[in-house]
Amino acid sequence: MIPPSLRAAGMPFQRLFGVWFLFSLTMGTLPVPTSALADSQRALELPVDHGKAPLPVANWTKSFWINSPGANPLAGEGSQGPLTEDADVCIIGSGLTGVSAAYHLGKQLEGRERAAPLKVVILDARDFCAGATGRNGGHLSPVAFASFNLALQRFGTDEVLRWLALERHTVTEVVKIIEEHGLQEAVDLTNGGRIELLITPEELTAAKADYKAAEAAGADLDDVKWLNEGETFGSSHPGYLHTGYNLWPLKFVTELYKLAAASPALNLTLHTRTPVTAVTPSNGSSTRPWTLNTPRGSVSCTRIIHATNAHVSHLLPHMSGPAGVIPVRAQVMALRAAAPLDSISRHAWTGNEGFEYWFPRPLEEGQEHPLVIIGGGREATLPKYELYVADDSAINPKAGAALRKFLPTLFPGKYEEGREPEMEWTGIMGYTASSDPFVGPVVDPSSSTNKYEGHFVSAGYSGHGMPRAFACAEALAQMVAAGIMGKSWSPPEWLPRHYLTNRVGLVQH
Ligand SMILES: Cc1cc2nc3c(=O)[nH]c(=O)nc-3n(C[C@H](O)[C@H](O)[C@H](O)COP(=O)(O)OP(=O)(O)OC[C@H]3O[C@@H](n4cnc5c(N)ncnc54)[C@H](O)[C@@H]3O)c2cc1C
Repeated sequence: MIPPSLRAAGMPFQRLFGVWFLFSLTMGTLPVPTSALADSQRALELPVDHGKAPLPVANWTKSFWINSPGANPLAGEGSQGPLTEDADVCIIGSGLTGVSAAYHLGKQLEGRERAAPLKVVILDARDFCAGATGRNGGHLSPVAFASFNLALQRFGTDEVLRWLALERHTVTEVVKIIEEHGLQEAVDLTNGGRIELLITPEELTAAKADYKAAEAAGADLDDVKWLNEGETFGSSHPGYLHTGYNLWPLKFVTELYKLAAASPALNLTLHTRTPVTAVTPSNGSSTRPWTLNTPRGSVSCTRIIHATNAHVSHLLPHMSGPAGVIPVRAQVMALRAAAPLDSISRHAWTGNEGFEYWFPRPLEEGQEHPLVIIGGGREATLPKYELYVADDSAINPKAGAALRKFLPTLFPGKYEEGREPEMEWTGIMGYTASSDPFVGPVVDPSSSTNKYEGHFVSAGYSGHGMPRAFACAEALAQMVAAGIMGKSWSPPEWLPRHYLTNRVGLVQH
């Protein structure tokens, strides 16, 4: 998980290895290269043609979130029996984006005079929410100011402030829903704040400069507290603390689905284990102009929301490669700490330019030492960084080896060297060259005709979707609802205009 809008000039491999080697000599044996972000970004932007993304694989690695007993009651919902024949809105993907889109459609249309509830169907290739959302690091943290300067250069002050506003809007709204419905325990919400550990002197210098620029631009930095080496719970690095939550993402999405299904404005159904293999024009139907093709039959749709993130280019091939959304495999493990929760701290953490991220789970009865969910290790797989890897049925041993050593090295004595994780899994993120998602009507720039009329997309959160997908789906639902009601749509103030697929005269991705 790397902060969004992070872009940097490429760094040659020789230099990268030099930095890693020097760092190892001076700081001990951190098992991952430092200062790898620029190089991974360069690799991401290489104009290579890997073609469209495949469908999600069927035999995915088991994740703590999905495979803990009772965690996924909707796993196989709608996978048997008759398939819904048609719908006003067909949503492809049951992760945070797809389910948020359904939730927001309900909110948008509630109280509006309509003859019948909006017929909405969600289809997913796998079990409910078994993509990135069911396999991620569990952090729900808005960016405080990281990468502010880079984003400022690229998008300008208004856009960078909107980016921060969108993330705060998401987190505020998600927490509000959880609190209003008394779901804190159901989704394991923890308001521990997040510590960004600044491991190299260069990271510290860049963070100070970003803070200054954010302050000058008028960003709200009241929640930021700088920490020196002695204040980071036993690590020998400085950092800063800011707003941050962690939760059980699948359980939150399950609750959100239940809220959407209860909306009087919607008639909502879900079909899991139903991959959409193609979208084709319907023969002669003006009310349901699109057909979703699945191995179980077809669904006729008026409008389509593509919430397929890393796999978006499977159905929208023009969205493949560096100009679109690149599948990138990420690895996570659940590792038991060797010290009590209070000495580990309840915070969520990131380190090493955001490549590693971790937090301790709440203690369960009888447990003394917390289970820590830690993700990252991708920079140890250089030069490929797991780019264009869309297969989460396997783990990468290099990333795994790095992750096993990371916390014992950073926090001597608090984690046991050589301890095996209780679970280890992978998931597929959707990266864009700008680190920002595509939100809005589907537009194929190579085509002069609008061949995707009625299709919408929100995808490409670049490993940082928890504080963005909910709000991006809200913007999408607003657009779709406006179309249904025959009204025009204007973007909410918090939506960065450069996220929009149909932006005109704005900075390109
Ligand atoms: C290992 C990992 C760790 C991460 N950690 C964090 C973190 O801690 N914090 C954070 O902010 N972000 C994190 N992210 C990113 C975050 O999880 C994603 O940005 C977010 O979950 C995206 O949600 P989504 O609904 O768009 O995509 P997904 O959750 O991937 O949902 C897409 C769904 O579409 C389905 N699908 C795809 N193609 C088809 C098709 N053709 N037909 C039918 N269904 C289809 C998939 O099966 C999947 O269920 C992480 C991601 C990964 C993989």
